[in-house]
Amino acid sequence: MTTATPQPGQLIVITGPSGVGKGTLLRQLRQRHPELALSVSATTRPPRPTEVEGVDYYFVSMEEFKGMIASGKLLEWAEFAGHYYGTPRDPLLQLIEEGKTVILEIELQGARQVRQSYPQARHIFILPPSLTELEHRLRSRGQDSEEAIARRLAQAETEIAAASEFDVQIVNDDLEKSLIALETAIFSPAA
Ligand code: 5GP
Repeated sequence: MTTATPQPGQLIVITGPSGVGKGTLLRQLRQRHPELALSVSATTRPPRPTEVEGVDYYFVSMEEFKGMIASGKLLEWAEFAGHYYGTPRDPLLQLIEEGKTVILEIELQGARQVRQSYPQARHIFILPPSLTELEHRLRSRGQDSEEAIARRLAQAETEIAAASEFDVQIVNDDLEKSLIALETAIFSPAA
């Protein structure tokens, strides 16, 4: 008996400034659609108190990260606010081969690299209602130092200026509305 090869899955790239609420949106999305796969990135950033190795990130040293770049293990990588972040290539391609829809939550430079190396991906940008609201959200989550917040806000302005490069833009001012917009963006058939 032969087993049918599954149709290849889809790659969804989600980008948006730090503090815009991507984490909350993605957690809710996964609850509604457990079949969606989230790629786990490698980073040189130290873990936050609630983060779990292998679930939120693979926390690696700079040396390990450089080794991953040198051996071609990363589909894309970037430096963001003083730390390095990258997407392990093989587990991602394996999931797509199995027919899964895989979500990459990455920053702008990485999203641009994926557009080059994997043009079939669908790119979604999450916008804050305003920069003032973004600053408020970054401060109120209480996870980052003043210096880190300032770096993240500066980076946010650059990222927001590039929002039009993305296939879909969603303003995250209401969680439920944003979730529906995200579901539409992910599950609507390719144009
Ligand atoms: P955080 O330190 O807040 O977890 O993440 C900082 C930024 O890095 C976020 O914009 C997040 O989307 C991005 N990021 C997380 N993983 C990756 C990755 O594998 N590649 C790239 N390019 N960016 C990532």
